[in-house]
Amino acid sequence: MTTIVVGAGMAGLSAAHTLIKAGEPVVVLEARNRIGGRIYTNRKLCPIPIEFGAEFIHGERAATSVLARRLGVQLYPWRKTDDSYVRLENDMWMTMSAARAAFPEFDLVRNLSALETPISPQDESLADYLRRAGFSEEQLHYVHRMYANAAGDAPQYLSALATIGLSQQRLEMNGNQDFRILDGYDMLVKMLAADLDIHLDTPVSHIEWGGDGVSVTTLNAASFTADAAIITLPLGVLQSGRVHFSPQLPTDKQAAIRALKVGPALKLIYYFESPIVDDPEVMAIYSAENPPMWWSPSVEQGLPGQVWTAFATGDWARDLLALGEDGALLQGLKSLRIELDNPYIDPIAMLWVNWTDDPYTLGGYSVVPVGAMGMRDVLSQPTPPLYWAGEATAPDVQAATVHGAYLSGLRAAEQRLSSA
Ligand SMILES: Cc1cc2nc3c(=O)[nH]c(=O)nc-3n(C[C@H](O)[C@H](O)[C@H](O)COP(=O)(O)OP(=O)(O)OC[C@H]3O[C@@H](n4cnc5c(N)ncnc54)[C@H](O)[C@@H]3O)c2cc1C
Repeated sequence: MTTIVVGAGMAGLSAAHTLIKAGEPVVVLEARNRIGGRIYTNRKLCPIPIEFGAEFIHGERAATSVLARRLGVQLYPWRKTDDSYVRLENDMWMTMSAARAAFPEFDLVRNLSALETPISPQDESLADYLRRAGFSEEQLHYVHRMYANAAGDAPQYLSALATIGLSQQRLEMNGNQDFRILDGYDMLVKMLAADLDIHLDTPVSHIEWGGDGVSVTTLNAASFTADAAIITLPLGVLQSGRVHFSPQLPTDKQAAIRALKVGPALKLIYYFESPIVDDPEVMAIYSAENPPMWWSPSVEQGLPGQVWTAFATGDWARDLLALGEDGALLQGLKSLRIELDNPYIDPIAMLWVNWTDDPYTLGGYSVVPVGAMGMRDVLSQPTPPLYWAGEATAPDVQAATVHGAYLSGLRAAEQRLSSA
């Protein structure tokens, strides 16, 4: 039985790799001129690999940790949570662990699972729920800066039902230790892609599906047919309607695509010729400015200088995007100068990576808005001969991550194999 896999990100490559290993013929169609999708390692900015997309493996038990160990890819333990510096709302500047020990009020914003107030069974926004649970506006601001920025959108857009408890479940499932891949995150996708028939520069525009199988047409007028297809298009692309399905997808699938949300995301990356932070223990900064979150991918990499990467989603990203590339980069530099109390730091190179306007992603990663709990599950359901993978189709506890995308690819490939 033949299969087309649409998209050569982590989900598509894990699906195609699984099918090939099972002896099934597979063709992978990828719009870009590279594989990896939201895994995008740059080796031109400076002498060490820099991640333009995904950067961390979240958890020693995460499926991608297990995969990396199996493939012999070296992992570097990352300690950002406790060793990072945080600018408190009262302007104090201390390590995260010191702040948590000194201020129980602050500690609570890092531990939402501990809240006992029941969430409205009809769902409510994370912001509304936390206010009802007694959070002050100051605490809400911390949640916005620290939790919601990583979760992908602002607290007023996140479902409380889908959010509260998730961090704890994630820790229990995947473990507490984050890792970086010093040789580049793309090592993982390159290894999965070996032996696959991948067509780059092949943007799919139409997918016809039915009892006879699948026929796929591309923007450059190529066509491919197969018995089945695994669709790993990012949620933003599915929502844009740029890929037409004929016949239309079932109404519940369309409803799930509409109900979920993709928050905006961007990275601002600065390369400094000499270190701007002397303390080698400082790996990350939680800033009170915009962008709210920084880390240094060059820590312990032997680079004479330093690279600092800022990551912004949600309202932070919307405000930065409104400034345009130059304005956002200047804003980022201004924030870093304020936090380090050093107006003289000047990068030798800086760039932004704007995932929101990237036509083959159209956003950062999926989030569950109020009332959309369960929609990822609907999105993941097979509609033979189409099978569905991608981070947005992973269970809430794994979604929006590389390991979630990887597992979704395994699941879709197994569904396809058991349909034969
Ligand atoms: C800035 C940023 C930082 C992140 N940081 C982390 C992190 O530290 N840790 C973590 O676990 N996760 C992180 N994530 C999330 C993670 O990157 C994603 O969840 C994961 O990589 C998604 O994989 P995927 O295969 O589902 O989608 P993608 O990687 O987006 O793959 C989909 C593929 O489909 C292709 N495509 C799109 N349209 C078409 C078309 N018309 N025809 C053919 N192909 C098409 C795309 O080009 C792409 O290659 C981050 C994401 C972003 C944006």
